[in-house]
Amino acid sequence: MTASRAARERKAATEAGPLALVRIDLGADQQFVYKIGCTECVVRGTSAWSSYRSGDDNGYLAAMDRWTFHLTEKHRGAEAPCLAYLPAAQQRLHERRTGQADSTARNDRR
Ligand SMILES: [Zn+2]
Repeated sequence: MTASRAARERKAATEAGPLALVRIDLGADQQFVYKIGCTECVVRGTSAWSSYRSGDDNGYLAAMDRWTFHLTEKHRGAEAPCLAYLPAAQQRLHERRTGQADSTARNDRR
């Protein structure tokens, strides 16, 4: 059983915090497409920042990891529940860069 799209969207929006605009669309292949945009960067009109990832749980994690990095790099002091998972996100990034296939098990937040 998978959670409904709306439920996932609410969960993701909660984790991403007040600066994030979270949308989940259904892609052509019926996979969830996670879109996380930054309200502050859009409003300032410089460069809109957003992360798009398709896929199920892996897509969710990849989009949220990128958002977590964006917050830590651009919006120091911002509050968001996902920041609690920064060490896990950095570990996943490291594993992707070093080409390790299995990065899901130990640091999964759910
Ligand atoms: Zn931003």
